Amino acid sequence: MLRFFNTLSRQVEEFQPINGNKVRMYICGPTVWNFAHIGNFRTFIFGDILRRYLKFKGYDLTHVFNLTDVDDRIINESKARGISINEFTAPFIRYFWEDFDALGMERPEVTPRATEHVAEMIDIISKLLENGHAYESDGSIYYRIAAFPEYGKLSKISFSGNIAGGSDRVDTDKYEKEDARDFALWKLVDEGDEPGWDAPFGRGRPGWHIECSAMSMKYLGETFDLHAGGMDLQFPHHENEIAQSEGSTGKLFAKYWIHSEFLKIDDVTMSKSKGNFFTFRDLSEQGYSPLAIRYLLLSVPYRKQLNFTFEGLQGAESTVERLRNFRSLVTDGGGSSIEPGSDGRKNPSSSEGAAGSADGPEGRLPTGRVSASTAIERFEAAMDDDFNTAAALAAIHDMVREINTIMADGGLTKEDQAAVLDAIQKFDAVLGIFGPEEKALLDADIEALITERQQARHDRDFARSDEIRDQLAAQGIILEDTPTGVRWKKK
Ligand code: AMP
Ligand code: ZN
Repeated sequence: MLRFFNTLSRQVEEFQPINGNKVRMYICGPTVWNFAHIGNFRTFIFGDILRRYLKFKGYDLTHVFNLTDVDDRIINESKARGISINEFTAPFIRYFWEDFDALGMERPEVTPRATEHVAEMIDIISKLLENGHAYESDGSIYYRIAAFPEYGKLSKISFSGNIAGGSDRVDTDKYEKEDARDFALWKLVDEGDEPGWDAPFGRGRPGWHIECSAMSMKYLGETFDLHAGGMDLQFPHHENEIAQSEGSTGKLFAKYWIHSEFLKIDDVTMSKSKGNFFTFRDLSEQGYSPLAIRYLLLSVPYRKQLNFTFEGLQGAESTVERLRNFRSLVTDGGGSSIEPGSDGRKNPSSSEGAAGSADGPEGRLPTGRVSASTAIERFEAAMDDDFNTAAALAAIHDMVREINTIMADGGLTKEDQAAVLDAIQKFDAVLGIFGPEEKALLDADIEALITERQQARHDRDFARSDEIRDQLAAQGIILEDTPTGVRWKKK
């Protein structure tokens, strides 16, 4: 049974979707004004884990993940370059998805862009104006927080008393607001100035918060199951989304709210504005693999802060390499002959009858199958417990250790081997840390490469012929030049 911490209730709750097996989830996506940094990716990878685990549990998921492609930074940067906001954001959107895919994240079902949903934002703002939750001032439209008594229910920030006239915690700008807490839904844009959209209440551009109310309710309905994002979005972004959405529909907006903690560096939150960040590309250029970066970012449970260090990343690199080697070894049968249906171990006395316990009274090992099924149970229990990825990883590493010992002890049975590979597949459906399997080359592929290499040598293209030799060597294929031609064998 899946349980997790709901920010709205400040309690760990059992997850009960609103509509049977269907789960509707919204996660706030990036602002595409620059490269995302690995702090952003910690939050997005957690979103990916959330997604994959809900699917693992058998839910029928609709996951919406937006792109914020209009905001002050985007407008200023595109103006400075003399290009449209679309021209400015296009490459960053492309880079974002490239990084997203490289880090092994699954694409959500719906990935809406704010600029393509302005009509839906205008509809919500019109409703809020009609029912007194919004007002116009100097051509802009503001949300009237005084009309929504539940304001603050998510962040639990106390807003007692009228703080009109200024507070440095809330945004004060040049326009007249009834209350300093009130926030802009629609910002006046002068005729001829870009970007601007025409609305019944005047030409303007949307505030950030209204974007997410519009895109979530459009694809998930007025009430949906789960809304997630980074810790900093709790207030004011998510508090404002609730005020806008519930203020316009009169219905509960999202049942569960999940917020993930920051990635820090030298104990300071990683951020663009502080300049203390690494992008995924920075780390790739230094030779770190996407799998290791992913492993590091998910290795600490989402409600704990994580301090980034290169030592930690190096450690993650060796861990994923060990995991991948382990899978190859198991796939190859653990280096020993496997007899179908039999326990192929050389020393049966060390393993017989040890089912159920990893370290029996005499330190006996479980069989491979028991080790694998225990690991799956522990993995699921850990993930059910507020997505405890650290405990889930511990279950995997314990299994790896046990199976390595079993293999060293004489091998796995066919059934053990299948059970372990099946367990790895289950873990990776959620965590994605073993990564795709390298496909073994078929004999025909090898022959074709050898022919190509011969031709390359004939053409004196030694770079290509060496490349092919290396490619084959990486797959354990050794070439021998003999008087009758090239022969090959597997290492
Ligand atoms: P932005 O592109 O600025 O809208 O941010 C995208 C997401 O990254 C938001 O959900 C933020 O909460 C999250 N985020 C920003 N900085 C960090 C960080 N240092 N660690 C984890 N998440 C972060
Ligand atoms: Zn949002």
